[in-house]
Amino acid sequence: MKSRFSLNLGKPFGIRVSIHWTFSLLIAWIVFITVRQGLGTVQVLMHILFVLTLFVCVVLHEFGHSLTAIRLGGKVKSITLLPIGGMANITEMPENPKDEFMVSAAGPLVNVAIAVILWLYLAFLHPVDVEAMGFEAITAGNFPVMLLAANLFIVAFNLIPAFPMDGGRLFRSALSIHMSRLKATRIAKDIGQVFAIIFIFAGFFINPFLVIIGLFIILGARGEYEMMKYRHILNNYTVGDIVKTDYEELDRDDSLGEAAEKLAHISDRGFVVTSGGEYAGILTKNDLIKGLSTYGKDGMVRDAFSENIEKVAPDATLFDVFKKMQMNRYDMVPVSDNEKFIGILDMESLNEFFLLQKAMS
Ligand SMILES: [Zn+2]
Repeated sequence: MKSRFSLNLGKPFGIRVSIHWTFSLLIAWIVFITVRQGLGTVQVLMHILFVLTLFVCVVLHEFGHSLTAIRLGGKVKSITLLPIGGMANITEMPENPKDEFMVSAAGPLVNVAIAVILWLYLAFLHPVDVEAMGFEAITAGNFPVMLLAANLFIVAFNLIPAFPMDGGRLFRSALSIHMSRLKATRIAKDIGQVFAIIFIFAGFFINPFLVIIGLFIILGARGEYEMMKYRHILNNYTVGDIVKTDYEELDRDDSLGEAAEKLAHISDRGFVVTSGGEYAGILTKNDLIKGLSTYGKDGMVRDAFSENIEKVAPDATLFDVFKKMQMNRYDMVPVSDNEKFIGILDMESLNEFFLLQKAMS
């Protein structure tokens, strides 16, 4: 989730926590519903407080996943809060089934722990008579009971085996003990899609949030399965297998107009930029378009090219490079062997290579 759509809340354990702007729609919706019910200001505020507290539980749930992933060698970039729940951006996930099981289980377990703490509080410190309690609206009296119930609901809902929800991940990790991870993911994904369709259908009658969750499941599962296929194929090849060594060159001191003229006649998607005959950086098609709209055709290559794109080694696996390019939105990367520049690798060729290998496999 891009940060310009989110409000940063902080960076505990090196994980950026932010709240998506659509979250304000949730608050607006709660105000709308509660005011329509005829509730007073204090009660409306109580409902907002409840939702915020519940989302603290959701953040803790995501920290359960994230910190477990980090402990098992994974990497987590951020946690984003959306109206439908939290999303941890785990950039590197431990791959073996046992570790994956632990990472997936850790989230719901946090909510179990919260529920237990609330139950202990209600049982020993603050006994209440649940049967005499009204639950039409959230009040100071029923707040902890409602919060306990909501946490149990989060556990139950997340355990539905709809990949990529937690239950679906647990299911996949169990499957991948007996079969390849790719096949396990495909089965988990297919079952997940069935649940997603049920969610979407039920959502029209019960709660519109279910429709959104259903769509998230469909898109999320497809994206992740596609990524697995990339991994499965591209892990078998290295950068050296497809590096382009007959690239087109430009000098730092060429004009952008010359570059545009040249681009029209070549099949490449960009240029290697040199300075005094030595590699200096890369000018992609996008760099060129951006440069032309800022400086015009008399602008210089040196003002528009990308200088600091991380070089990749010829023996790096194609999947690692693919991931890096996707994460940093690189269209093209320089390939260099111990500081000796060899050539370039661009995203379009990489995708083409993937599709060809997939068609052959
Ligand atoms: Zn979870």
